[in-house]
Amino acid sequence: MTFEDLGLGPELLKALAEVGYTCPTPIQAQAIPVVLMGRDVLGCAQTGTGKTASFTLPMIEILAAGRAKARMPRSLILAPTRELAAQAAENFDNYGKYHRLTKALIIGGESMSDQSALLDRGVDVLIATPGRLLDMFERGRILLNDVKVLVIDEADRMLDMGFIPDVERIVGLLPKIRQTLFFSATLGPEIRRLADAFLMNPKEITVSPGTSTAATVEQHLAVVEEIDKRETLRHLIRTENVKNAFIFCNRKRDVDILYRSLKKHDFDVCQLHGDMAQSARGDTLDSFKKGEIRLMVCSDVAARGIDVSAVSHVFNFDVPIHAEDYVHRIGRTGRAGMAGRAFTIAVPDDGKAVAAIEKLIGNTIPRIAVEGVPALELDMTARKGRGGRGAAKPTGRDRGRPARGESPAPAPAPASAVLREPQPASKAAIEVPQPRPAPAAPPREEAPIRDIRPAAAESRSRYRDERGRGRDDRGRRRGRIDELGIGEMLHADDVVGFGDHPPDFILIPVPLPSKLSARDLADEDEDEVEAVAEE
Ligand code: AMP
Repeated sequence: MTFEDLGLGPELLKALAEVGYTCPTPIQAQAIPVVLMGRDVLGCAQTGTGKTASFTLPMIEILAAGRAKARMPRSLILAPTRELAAQAAENFDNYGKYHRLTKALIIGGESMSDQSALLDRGVDVLIATPGRLLDMFERGRILLNDVKVLVIDEADRMLDMGFIPDVERIVGLLPKIRQTLFFSATLGPEIRRLADAFLMNPKEITVSPGTSTAATVEQHLAVVEEIDKRETLRHLIRTENVKNAFIFCNRKRDVDILYRSLKKHDFDVCQLHGDMAQSARGDTLDSFKKGEIRLMVCSDVAARGIDVSAVSHVFNFDVPIHAEDYVHRIGRTGRAGMAGRAFTIAVPDDGKAVAAIEKLIGNTIPRIAVEGVPALELDMTARKGRGGRGAAKPTGRDRGRPARGESPAPAPAPASAVLREPQPASKAAIEVPQPRPAPAAPPREEAPIRDIRPAAAESRSRYRDERGRGRDDRGRRRGRIDELGIGEMLHADDVVGFGDHPPDFILIPVPLPSKLSARDLADEDEDEVEAVAEE
């Protein structure tokens, strides 16, 4: 089959020939004619399948007729991350070069006034992340009642990131009569519910099961002590013939720590996570794509969907918390039939997470031993002591093992031995930090106590108000959250009136009602949700 057979016009065919595509991918072959007919699509496809072109190509064809009015975009693409949004915009530039369509990329981290100016001129295609789009709408800079084609990309990621309430709100602002193209890597019950709500009689297209790993990726798993993880990684990077690699961490703060550690060991490395300024994110990505930097330490949220061809290796510095993320991570290598190698570094307590991955992919990941690092076994009974995404990881010290260079404390039993014969917990493992003496309470009149957890509605309106304050004090607030150690449970600004000495009881985390999403708590756009999602 050729692109011509799909009903695309000569301008698009010319642009496609120039980018070097000879034939459509399966999702393109199935979706393009359906979109050109004006029908809704429910596409189950991952990144790497050519899904972006499966909606951008027919959209360009459809939008070629007609003109945009000021502030009234004719089509809207919603993407969960800035990188994905930027990639969709790039697709429009590449394939639409022989059309005179206008587009705007509305994402956080970039000047609102520039984006506003573009909207004022009228755009055919608006590509946006949900948070910034709602901001623009609330400020009256955009009207959504002329949107004729809506694309929701990576819906499952939107769900993971807590964006669905925003997406539902945005869809509620669009005309009822429109064409909707909805893409997701998985089609779980919640995604189906959304698809039912947003789509009308869609054509369902599935191109590959979301749980398969490419046969071209050779997978390996090393089980080591927590304290040996970095050494294991360094050894693997040095001994493998690494052309370029993604190194995934589960949490954003670990991305930074690992990045700095690798840098200290003179590796050619960069990092990518949601706390970085957009310009730094863009520059880093460009350098990595161009091959100027060999290693990228990143989080799932930042790296999802990033299209870098010919990546030779993926290293999972942490076993992903969600088994599907394993498939996405290792899918960054072994693309387009090329060989790739994936290494996962686990600790014994990751037993259950590894089992979940192996169940999902239907295979056992071959175990390897790394020279100079004791190989351990997975503990299939252990509950990983994370206490949720925000909890601190056990360090070598916590596990009763001395840091390098320290005199050895009594050696802990290896996890595999614990399985066979329970050992008494080491002192270090059971030692609980003593609470620090409570600071003297300031006189009441100086430090009026007020409810530290405002009601949800108040919290929301505060959130909206605070967004207007800009990013200047964001670092300060974040720093404060870290200082308090209660990250996602409590907004730092909610502790008021005690100066720097809130009494200890105030700091006890209070679980939030389950109805509140991460989005409700965020005081910024999608970045903040990334922070919560990644913690
Ligand atoms: P996506 O799934 O949209 O992230 O696309 C993954 C990669 O496939 C991108 O690098 C695209 O440029 C590339 N691609 C998309 N369509 C085709 C095609 N028909 N032939 C070859 N490469 C393609």
